Amino acid sequence: AMKIGVLALQGAVAEHVRMLEEAGATAVAVKKVEELDDLDGLIIPGGESTTISKLMHKYGFMEAVREFGKARKPIFGTCAGAILLAKRISGQEDSHLGLMDILVERNAFGRQKESFEVTMPVAGVAADYPAVFIRAPYIREVGENGEVLAKYEEKIVVARDGHYLAAAFHPELTEDNRLHRYFLDMVKEYRS
Ligand code: GLN
Repeated sequence: AMKIGVLALQGAVAEHVRMLEEAGATAVAVKKVEELDDLDGLIIPGGESTTISKLMHKYGFMEAVREFGKARKPIFGTCAGAILLAKRISGQEDSHLGLMDILVERNAFGRQKESFEVTMPVAGVAADYPAVFIRAPYIREVGENGEVLAKYEEKIVVARDGHYLAAAFHPELTEDNRLHRYFLDMVKEYRS
């Protein structure tokens, strides 16, 4: 089976592990850099991007995850994880991992909409995907090799750039594992 890690420094870890296992993968909560070595893919969960970033620096994950991505191993960033993956963050000079060619804007849906759920089409995934947004970012731009997979209110909320996948919402908080299955198909593609 494919072995997928979920970066377990902060945020929605256990729910991603459960989703991946339901989708047929072996999933591990990753707390040490060495645990990246035998993984086929990695999920960076939602949470608070600034907190996760600090912990990644502290425990040596910044360089290790960059290496992982540069070795063409797939990475899926959800919500804060998408912010961590992005090459550019609106209004900020520096990015975090800076791996995926997207420009993100944090907390993009306003205060009155701190959290909400909508059903939307996601290209190649589902016509009726249930998406849970929690203080979500959105993707303002996708680089020239990137693909837009979903939009909500004209804003890009799912994108792919080669072996990188980003979702602005929390795909681990429902019973629908189709986006996780899509990611596992990406992992399969890059493994062969
Ligand atoms: N607003 C958070 C951030 O900027 C992301 C929220 C989330 O992951 N649910 O990191």
